[in-house]
Amino acid sequence: MTAPRRKSQHSSAFGSDTSNASIELNPLFSRPGEATEFPRFTLPDGAALPSTAYQIVHDEAMLDGNARLNLATFVGTWMEAEAGKLYAETVDKNMIDKDEYPKTADIEHRCWRILADLWNAPDPERSVGTSTIGSSEACMLAGLALKRRWQHARRKDGRSTDRPNIIMSSAVQVCWEKFCNYFEVEARYVPISEDHPVLDGHELEKYVDENTIGVVAIMGVTYTGMYEPVEKISKALDAIQKARGLDIPIHVDGASGAMVAPFLQPKLEWDFRVPRVISINTSGHKYGLVYPGLGWVVWRDETDLPEDLIFHVSYLGGDMPTFALNFSRPGAQVLLQYYLFLRLGREGYRSVHAACRDVARYLAHEIGAMEPFQLWNDGSDIPVFAWRLKPDFAGEWTLQHLSDRLRMAGWLVPAYPMPDGMTDLTVQRVVVRNGFTRDLAESFLQDLRTAVEFLEKAPTPLPEPGEANAFHH
Ligand SMILES: *Cc1c(COP(=O)(O)O)cnc(C)c1O
Repeated sequence: MTAPRRKSQHSSAFGSDTSNASIELNPLFSRPGEATEFPRFTLPDGAALPSTAYQIVHDEAMLDGNARLNLATFVGTWMEAEAGKLYAETVDKNMIDKDEYPKTADIEHRCWRILADLWNAPDPERSVGTSTIGSSEACMLAGLALKRRWQHARRKDGRSTDRPNIIMSSAVQVCWEKFCNYFEVEARYVPISEDHPVLDGHELEKYVDENTIGVVAIMGVTYTGMYEPVEKISKALDAIQKARGLDIPIHVDGASGAMVAPFLQPKLEWDFRVPRVISINTSGHKYGLVYPGLGWVVWRDETDLPEDLIFHVSYLGGDMPTFALNFSRPGAQVLLQYYLFLRLGREGYRSVHAACRDVARYLAHEIGAMEPFQLWNDGSDIPVFAWRLKPDFAGEWTLQHLSDRLRMAGWLVPAYPMPDGMTDLTVQRVVVRNGFTRDLAESFLQDLRTAVEFLEKAPTPLPEPGEANAFHH
């Protein structure tokens, strides 16, 4: 793709007759670069003042959506002032420089140990874990460990390692499709249906065989927010092991739910209490409540992470074991996670998430009571819920039209078709995050009602809805 070329009027503005001193005296918006134009697709010839460059970038970013009104994303958009201060103080820390930043490395270690404990590892001292850039990287690492574990076992028995496969719901997040594509593992999708809206062990025996490296269970399905019943899936695998001798492990993708369930559903057994669960990932930047750029993965026991996946790097000083796809990455988010662990504790996380769940349930109840809609779920797993148009809905408009109308009021509420098995069904989803208050929820409901009224009365045929519904968060 070639970028359109724009003529740079800016570089000429730095002619020899314009000294930097006089530019600096110019009022901000009448300076070169502000009153004239920066080239967009080529590097400017000259330098600009920091205040000019700042203002240009700041102003362009101003045209992005308002993050707090984005009801599509799971990713943190609000932290308190002290966190902002800590973030600013630590932006320069590189997570990989464990020798230069031994305390940050220590804190990373403490964080995943805290998670191992939170997820009921039988012996957290025997667990291993790491921070990552997000759940996607964490899932790649967990998937690689499953694959390598299976390879070792197969080689030991003198059997082929040519055709590994992994079992998961058709509603998995795109990172698992990536894992299968990038690391050459066959993806076996169990389609969802009205009767089995999540992976629940039903007919699992038809999917697994001796080449199955593991089953992925999702705590908080991205499409709807529902939990997959990890214990039930595990029981189905127990039956398979009894009948066919296959011992298949479970990885839990808890990108959102692994930081919700320990606080809101502490009795639900989905974690290392289920013996078949050997690894769990979460996004620190989702319900871990940190700004974007942080994930975690923990293995129940160090023997679940094959040693030959770990690199020992020495050229930054010291001997540093790492298992990661990236080398350098920000360390500040790890410190922010630790800040939150100290700041909130169990009780704080519980109350933040309970407040979100109450808002989600309230909104779900109000939306479910509106004539055109039928709830898919009500936000009582993670604070996420989805709805559909009633099967006998007779109006001319779609949820995509509604999404467009809401966007005009500032709200981002995606509508999208369900995955394989139910692609005929379109749902619309709201993710309630820390900072989406009951008061904002009330404003949202008002705008939703206005949008529905508008669409009911709008002359038909309605224009095609826009493409504003890019999904996959
Ligand atoms: C968000 C999400 C991911 C990807 O997480 P990132 O932190 O955005 O990389 C993976 N799985 C599930 C279930 C998710 O919800």
